[in-house]
Amino acid sequence: MAKNYVSKSGKSTSVRTSTSQMKRAREDQVKNYAGGFVFKVSDMDYVRRFLILGTDSPTYYASSKKLTKDAAKHVEKMLKSPKAVDVINEAVDVSVNGRAAKNDPAIFVLALAANSTKPEVRKYALSKLSDVCRIFTHLATFLTFYQNLRTESGWGRGIRSAVSRWYNERKASGVAYQMCKYPSRRVEGETPWTHRDVLRKAHVIPVSDDHNTAFRYAVKGSEGFDGSFDSLIDTDLVYIYAHEAVKSAKSAAEVIKFIDGFNVTWESVPTELRNNKTVWDALVQKMPMTATIRNLGKMTNVGTLKDLSKNARLVADRLTDEAELKKARVHPVSLLGAMRTYGKGTGVKGSLTWSPVSVIKDALEEAFYKSFNYVEPTGKNYLIGVDVSGSMSWGNVAGMDCLTPAEGAAAMAMTIARTEKNYKIMGFADTFRDLGITAKDSLNDALRKTSHKNFGGTDCALPMTYASQHNLDVDVFIVITDNETYANRTVQPFEALKQYRAKSGRDAKLIVIGMTGTPFTIADPTDPGMLDIVGFDTNAPTIISQFVNGQI
Ligand code: CA
Repeated sequence: MAKNYVSKSGKSTSVRTSTSQMKRAREDQVKNYAGGFVFKVSDMDYVRRFLILGTDSPTYYASSKKLTKDAAKHVEKMLKSPKAVDVINEAVDVSVNGRAAKNDPAIFVLALAANSTKPEVRKYALSKLSDVCRIFTHLATFLTFYQNLRTESGWGRGIRSAVSRWYNERKASGVAYQMCKYPSRRVEGETPWTHRDVLRKAHVIPVSDDHNTAFRYAVKGSEGFDGSFDSLIDTDLVYIYAHEAVKSAKSAAEVIKFIDGFNVTWESVPTELRNNKTVWDALVQKMPMTATIRNLGKMTNVGTLKDLSKNARLVADRLTDEAELKKARVHPVSLLGAMRTYGKGTGVKGSLTWSPVSVIKDALEEAFYKSFNYVEPTGKNYLIGVDVSGSMSWGNVAGMDCLTPAEGAAAMAMTIARTEKNYKIMGFADTFRDLGITAKDSLNDALRKTSHKNFGGTDCALPMTYASQHNLDVDVFIVITDNETYANRTVQPFEALKQYRAKSGRDAKLIVIGMTGTPFTIADPTDPGMLDIVGFDTNAPTIISQFVNGQI
């Protein structure tokens, strides 16, 4: 099919082709998992999608195993190319700047690189070990991946010295904290790692007497101290003393004494005292951000958080402290997940229940918007198309159990609508769907309005054809989708954009926000007016604004 279009200026434009989404429009197109034809995202964008969205969850069209295998193969190929260093740097950047909800994909990329056949790639990857693996959980995850990728069980000098640096380059007090808070970590279905295993396998030689004492604690426990930790009271390793004292405490009062005096965390508290309100009242005062978010349900259940209480105000203020959110690398998806779970009043496993405190719910919503990197509005006209087709209600986004890709898409749309004044949010599947979402909606309402409309085939050309039909003045189309388009038998999305430009005379741009860890995109890589962004990249607002302003 071919049509002539006349632009607003009256000039006739060239004949433009128009292709069924089930047919190959150009040589550089590939078949998506739904059988439609689209483009392949760039090599680095595919890496970025893996790093930020992961492949933990199946999509409607592909199992998690298939997604993981495809992504891992791609990363391996990239690590063999001259771009290996770029890939490692991207993984480090995503991890260090908290751009992804989960650190595991970055750790996986680093483990792959640390097993490269090229010594310089291995060396570079291992030099970033402490940047990406900041707590023992990360290190144990790295070592599990690293070991699984190897055929031999012994470690070479490179990995041994990287692990040695992990322990010796932090203060002895920091090492003690890691040992108490995370004594052992296991990746699901794998053998756990303890500090003792790691220290022995890497032959770590302590850099100071205090490090030596901390290592002795990890390897021998109380035996290494003749049963008493009193000798640590006036040392930098006092945390070990406090942790051990709390572990064997018999009463809440005793536990609270150590929480107040030494800031021990809930991990040290004996199981039988973990339902005690006064213990949580003490813990909440200086609780770190991530632990606060994870324990909101628990603290509400025991009564530490309740309506109009001082502790609820304290926690609400903590959650909305932008600097603290950034420092703790709290990701918007984690906040969205916490908001949903907390609002429901039951935990994922269903055994714990609570009555949600309204100021906490509000704080989580505020924190969600604050956790993105803020930008100045561009003042342009945005048509935001949210894919609400059937496939978008399948599985979950970025490994968050309680959030579908469609709901994630709605949340992404809200972040743009809250920044820009001139916007229209529309839903689409194989037909237009009015979602009735505005920037004034609460996040919960926006998510609810989206999940009610989730069915049908997919036509990602719809935002552009809709704007053409209704003569809308669009500067930027934002299509938030899994890119599994196939339903339109007359026009592909990139062609629909060209037709819109020709008809309107506006040089409209298209930004595709991918919500799944697949290699597909509707954005034409040869058109500088189209761009791919990874859903829930905390840099997304910055990238959008730079692209729209012509800075990238
Ligand atoms: Ca679909």
